[in-house]
Amino acid sequence: MTNDHLLLNWMEESRALVHKGQVADYIPALAQASPDALGITIHPVQGSPLTLGDCDQIFTLQSISKVFTLILALMDRGEEVVFSHVGMEPTGDNFKSILKLELVPPGKPFNPMINAGAITVTSLIGGETPEEKWHRILAFIQHLASDPDIGFNEDVYESEKATANRNRSLGYFLKDVGVLEGKVEEQLDVYFKHCAIEMTCKQLARLAVILANNGLDPDTSRQLIPAKYVRIAKTFMVTCGMYNASGEFAIRVGIPAKSGVSGSILALVPGRMGIGIIGPSLDEKGNSIAGMHMLERMSEAWEFSMF
Ligand code: GLN
Repeated sequence: MTNDHLLLNWMEESRALVHKGQVADYIPALAQASPDALGITIHPVQGSPLTLGDCDQIFTLQSISKVFTLILALMDRGEEVVFSHVGMEPTGDNFKSILKLELVPPGKPFNPMINAGAITVTSLIGGETPEEKWHRILAFIQHLASDPDIGFNEDVYESEKATANRNRSLGYFLKDVGVLEGKVEEQLDVYFKHCAIEMTCKQLARLAVILANNGLDPDTSRQLIPAKYVRIAKTFMVTCGMYNASGEFAIRVGIPAKSGVSGSILALVPGRMGIGIIGPSLDEKGNSIAGMHMLERMSEAWEFSMF
């Protein structure tokens, strides 16, 4: 069987599982996504991308944006400043959790992949004004994707902004303890915008292949991200990228990956390929059911695991 045929079989198998989950609705605009959509792009470090399924489906990055805001904050402020504001340990709690915020004085979030950590990291990104900071984040993603047309979804942004009581409470707590820089509402606004950046799985796989290639653009061989920051991002993806399912994912699939509540997953096989997936039906931990199943099948068949 060719790789295309294998992938198509696995897609059919994965689609049959989506009824077990549901589309995220705590951000009301996300509830409009079609639960059984499934699209995947595999972008090899050498060779051309392979795209199958609902590849025209446009989705918002949500938590996947946390990987790139972390990288940008590291490029802007360096490791010492970033890791004096946010830790390096997984929590085992859900991504919105407030539970462990008081454990590391003065109130340092455990890692940059949970909401509290990502809101903090957003506050560290360079820019004189919130607008400048937001434009720098968007320009960075456009640059990596090599696509100046990438934008954000105004409805999803407004919808999250209008309902984000939990993120707001995290932001005010972080400000109170002196971990968050700047004004809370301004930082939250930038955070909601970068979560609402939208793209297709083809564009997502292009971001992933740069990480798979240690920050080098496979087309031009230009170093778009310093390799030392790609290494940090990949490590967080392994330890915390799939929320509180990261341990199980490391055993079953064994590669760096990051998911978003839109049902998107960015994954990569170091040195080999970047992968972008969209499948909006989520399991109870907030990961794409079909996407997780596809990655498990691919990892088994093509020996992806790093371990
Ligand atoms: N914007 C979402 C939130 O803050 C991102 C969460 C996610 O994708 N897990 O709740």
